[in-house]
Amino acid sequence: MTQRPWRVMKFGGTSVGSGARMLHVADLIQDALRTHRVVVVSSAAAGVTNTLIAAAQSAEAGGDAEQLAATFRLRHELIRAELADGLGNQRDPLAERLEAIASELENLLRGVALLRDLPGAALAHISGLGERAACACLEAIFAARAQTCHLLDPLVMLPCAGDPLAATPNPALMYERFAEVRQGDHELHVMPGFFGGDARGKLLSLGRGGSDWSGALAAAALDAELLEIWTDVDGIASADPRLVSEAVRLPELSFDEALELAHFGAKVLHPKTIAPAREKSIPVRVCDTFHPELAGTWIRAQVAPPEQPVRACTLLGQVALLTISGPGMPGVPGVAARLFSALADRQISVIFITQASSECTLSLGVATADAERARQAIEFAFAAEIAARRVDPVELRAGLSILSVVGEGMRTRVGIAGTFLSALGQVGCNVVAIAQGSSERSISVVVADADAERGLRHVHHCFFGTRETISLILCGLGTVGGRLLEQLAQLQPTLAIGPIQLELLGIASSTQFLVQPGGLDPRTAKRELDARGQLGNLTALLDAVMALRPLQPVLLDCTASASLAAAYPQILRAGLHLVAASKQANSASLQHYREIRRTAQRFRRQFRYETNVGAGLPVMATLRSLLDGGDRVVQFEGILSGSLSLLCGLLGDGVPISQAVQQARDAGMTEPDPRDDLSGLDVARKVLILARETGMELELDQVKVRGLLPADFDASGPTDAFMARLPELDARMALVVAEAKNQGTVLRYLARFDAHGCEVGLQAVPEGQPLAAVRGGENAFAFLTEHYQPRPLVVRGYGAGAAVTASGVLADVLTIARASLH
Ligand code: ASP
Ligand code: MG
Repeated sequence: MTQRPWRVMKFGGTSVGSGARMLHVADLIQDALRTHRVVVVSSAAAGVTNTLIAAAQSAEAGGDAEQLAATFRLRHELIRAELADGLGNQRDPLAERLEAIASELENLLRGVALLRDLPGAALAHISGLGERAACACLEAIFAARAQTCHLLDPLVMLPCAGDPLAATPNPALMYERFAEVRQGDHELHVMPGFFGGDARGKLLSLGRGGSDWSGALAAAALDAELLEIWTDVDGIASADPRLVSEAVRLPELSFDEALELAHFGAKVLHPKTIAPAREKSIPVRVCDTFHPELAGTWIRAQVAPPEQPVRACTLLGQVALLTISGPGMPGVPGVAARLFSALADRQISVIFITQASSECTLSLGVATADAERARQAIEFAFAAEIAARRVDPVELRAGLSILSVVGEGMRTRVGIAGTFLSALGQVGCNVVAIAQGSSERSISVVVADADAERGLRHVHHCFFGTRETISLILCGLGTVGGRLLEQLAQLQPTLAIGPIQLELLGIASSTQFLVQPGGLDPRTAKRELDARGQLGNLTALLDAVMALRPLQPVLLDCTASASLAAAYPQILRAGLHLVAASKQANSASLQHYREIRRTAQRFRRQFRYETNVGAGLPVMATLRSLLDGGDRVVQFEGILSGSLSLLCGLLGDGVPISQAVQQARDAGMTEPDPRDDLSGLDVARKVLILARETGMELELDQVKVRGLLPADFDASGPTDAFMARLPELDARMALVVAEAKNQGTVLRYLARFDAHGCEVGLQAVPEGQPLAAVRGGENAFAFLTEHYQPRPLVVRGYGAGAAVTASGVLADVLTIARASLH
């Protein structure tokens, strides 16, 4: 009969964190025994290694050994108690073994306390006791189940040398030691992870998290068919799920990808785990002890070509950047070699390097804990050059994180680095340094800790299209703002639109504001503002918003406030995107108009204002796409005011002007004071905005405005008095209308511009022309362009109303959000 293949099952700390969990683990192992011979590699129960290290350090400070050992003792007594019936006749033997380990600990601690010294070898020995205790428990469980199980002693089986706290295994020797196991008849072995032994049988630690490595080494030594890393999450995710809630599990990874991921901070796997498995092409399965039915992540040599170029994003915190530069650097061979050997001599590992192409500067990333030692090492190695001023003193910058994207598919795709960097720019995450692995399997950037999580979330969103939060700050709670709140309320309870998650981070009226971490309920926001709004100016509002570090904050200007419009550059500079329903800013001075755009570009913020013209109609968007396509507007003509469109239609039907204005006003189609419409100023602002969009450099006072009412008519005084005087115009206007009709035309309030200028006013339009048919409140925009002539491109429809304006504002928000998705 052929022997069953080997499987190595490595269990992490939480997997063996309690008696019940150990029993569950034993079940999993016995399951595996049906198809495989198994070597179990166990970590210490969760938290035990930390307890041991802390105890050793306290002993060094003179602490009481017995007291310090008590936590360890109690923890394992508890585990033993939890195992209860599961232990059968093994209760006492296990108690004895655990007590033996505990007293070994106590003795060691006593020694440390006496010496007031904690040598590396002693710390290594102490910190490995947790693994031994966990394995003793597993052995006892199997003994109670009459399942033969052999303990493998890492001191023998895992030969190491070097630093007692960061030992180097000797795989060749290890394979020899495992020969007997491989050829023997035993089907189940248990081996403590995390340490090995030197030639004299002294314990050497593999370093924190090292039992993954023990497992991989054992798998390689056995030529195992499979290495399983049992942990408390279902495999490796596209990002740390604690930081990116939308992260997805990765069904499979190549060895190389897994290596980069582990190196750059994916915590599930110790980076050293991959090499032994890759060498022997042993597939690694990372799986969830508590959900063994889930597939987990498979790491193997050959994986299906990825759909997405980027497989995962990682964050590695606690990094410092050392920069060495100076006139003596270029062209001197061996600078890098000396640098690295200086660091290697002190066992400092370099996470990442980058060299400016000028050769003048070389930067390298190390763990913050190593930073100061690394700086000293380099300055020592280059002491002569530094003294001669050929090399500058080393610059050390701490408080950094490395953000990486990893994926095999990056090699064959263009533009990954571009997407990555622009994603970081979009959320205002400043890049301190860039490095691309020569493998092209990963790109890493160094960013400030403070920016790192936001950066990671947004980068993940950009590559995977997962949901992202857009934070809205609504200014102005009038008709449009009110409607917007209603529309947001309709999106409740999730406030999500596709991959975009909205939150109403704050609202503001002209006098007070309210900013709520986590977002306000749009249904109650107004009431809450009244109840607990804060008095304060725009600066205070922006400070309150940005203190929460929102990923994508967007300020919505639904006011008609000139002072808010004047502050747009300040808003953009503070890091917010802007959506304006208000026309104030775009129709202000050219200088302000330009400054807003310059600021937006400089701070990489977006400024959108689709509703400025034609409310919900896609006018600006149409114009922009014409221009982007290389077209040029030769002439524009349009009906830009719903109220004047209604009025002109009524006049044409023979309704006297006084009645027509009254009707339009009653229908809510005019401003509260109809003179604001009749004056033509609103239309002038709109046409100015359109003209400026095409590149014309005009000021508002350069737009020729003829109001709808004759210039000699006295339109002064209070609204009611004005309305009362209007009938005086009826006969006169009727005459003008009739005259136009005689000539086969109709009167329309038109806005137009061409290369010669911009004007608005009442015009006779020949019947049969597109604009002659526009009435009843409709708007129309006719663009005569190089591509669209002699028939213009026309956008036509109802272009007014709070509801369409509010949804146009929301559409702008979505455009901003989507700009980051590819
Ligand atoms: N128990 C050890 C640690 O906490 C080794 C491991 O868990 O892999 O570092
Ligand atoms: Mg519009």
